[in-house]
Amino acid sequence: MKILSVNAGSSSLKFTLIELPEEKVVISGTFEKIGIDGSFYTIKYKGEKDKKEAKLETHTDAVKILLDELINYKVIKSYDEIDGVGHRLVHGGDKYTESVLINDDVLETVEKLVPLAPLHNPANLVGVRSFMEVLPKTPMVAVFDTAFHQSMSEEEFLYAIPREWYERYGVRRYGFHGTSHRYIATKMKEILGEDKKIISCHIGNGASLCAIKDGKSIATSMGFTPIAGVIMGTRCGDIDVGLLPYVMSQTKKSFDDVMTDLNKKSGMIGLTGVSSDMRDVEEGYNNKDSKCITAMNMYANKIVDYISMYDAKLEGADYIVFTAGVGENSDVMRDMVISRLAYRGIKLDSEKNSTRGITGVISADDSTVKVCVLPTDEELMIAKDTYDLINK
Ligand code: ADP
Repeated sequence: MKILSVNAGSSSLKFTLIELPEEKVVISGTFEKIGIDGSFYTIKYKGEKDKKEAKLETHTDAVKILLDELINYKVIKSYDEIDGVGHRLVHGGDKYTESVLINDDVLETVEKLVPLAPLHNPANLVGVRSFMEVLPKTPMVAVFDTAFHQSMSEEEFLYAIPREWYERYGVRRYGFHGTSHRYIATKMKEILGEDKKIISCHIGNGASLCAIKDGKSIATSMGFTPIAGVIMGTRCGDIDVGLLPYVMSQTKKSFDDVMTDLNKKSGMIGLTGVSSDMRDVEEGYNNKDSKCITAMNMYANKIVDYISMYDAKLEGADYIVFTAGVGENSDVMRDMVISRLAYRGIKLDSEKNSTRGITGVISADDSTVKVCVLPTDEELMIAKDTYDLINK
C-alpha cells in the first residue's frame, strides 16, 4: 500500500510516501512559503534532491503539485493509487488517546480544540482539508502529538491551580512529541522483545522527555503547551510564571510579545545570543565562549533533572534513549548528560558514544542503566497508523 505521511504547517507542507507493510520510503519533499512570495518545493527521490519554484497560493495548490510530481516521478500512475493519507495533528486534547480515521465528527472536534493549539491545529486542518479536496475518496487518518500521553495519571497531568480551570477549560498537562516517544517505545519493544522501563529523550530544536512504562507514557516534560520542560533551541522550558508581569512592566512589551520572546528568543539563542542550533553552541563551547559554556551546562543539567525525576517515577529505569537532532548527533551533549549521572552508576562507552552516526547501545558494559541512540521516525509511525486503521 502507498501511504502519504503529511505534516502541514501554516505556510509549509512536508510529505513522505511510504510503502507498507514493507516500510519503504519511496519519495519525500517539502513545500515552503505557501501563500507567501517566493514559494518553492523540494523533492527527494532515490538520494537526489530537486528544488523547484512554484506559485503556491494555497495548500491545495501544493497538494495538486505534489500528486502530479508523484506521477511525474513515476511513483504512481493516477491519484487513486494513494491508498491513504496520515496527517500529523498537534492537539487532540483529552478526546483522542490514539489515531483515528478522519470523518466530519473528527474534523469538528479538532476544530473545537483550536483554542488549545491556536497556531498549530488550524494549519494542520488546512492540510487535511486540502487533501480531502483533491483526494475525496481516499481514507485520511489523524495522528495526534498529544495522544500517547493520555495514559498519564491525573496526579501527573493536573497542575496545582484552581480545579475549575481544568474542569471548565481543560487546563492541564497534555505533552507533545507523542508520536516520537511512541515510536521509541514501539521500536524498543520490537528490538528487546518485551516492554522495558524507558526514559525517552527527544532532543531536537524542540525537546521533551518521556517516562515510559509497559509501553505507555506515565510522565512527560512538555505541558499545557510545548514551552514547558527542558531548555530548547528557542524556548525557555520551565520558568517561574511570576516573572511575566514584571517583564511586561519593565519592558513595556505586550503579553503576546513577551510570549514570543519566551518561545522564539529564549532557550539556547536567549542564553548565548549566538544561535539556537546546537552545532553553533557546541562550537562556542569548544572555543571557550563563557555564555556557550553556561548554556551547554544548563541544557545538560535540565535534562539530568528530568532523567532523575523519571528514574524515580519508574523506580529505576532500564534504558535511557537519545533521539532527534541533538540526541542522535551530539556525542558532546550525550556525554555531558550521562557524566552527571555517574552517581547512579550510569556511564557511557566513550568510544561507542563518539562513533559518528552510531545507533544502538552506547553505555559501558557495567552501566546500571543502558543508554542508547535510536533515530526517531514520526513519518513512519503516522504511515503505520494509517495503514493499520485502513486495514482494520
Ligand atoms: P525539530 O525539533 O525541529 O524536529 P530536529 O530533531 O531535526 O529538530 O533537530 C534539529 C537540531 O538538531 C538542530 O537545530 C541542531 O541543534 C541539532 N543538531 C543536528 N545535527 C547536529 C550535530 N551534528 N551536532 C549537534 N547538534 C546537531
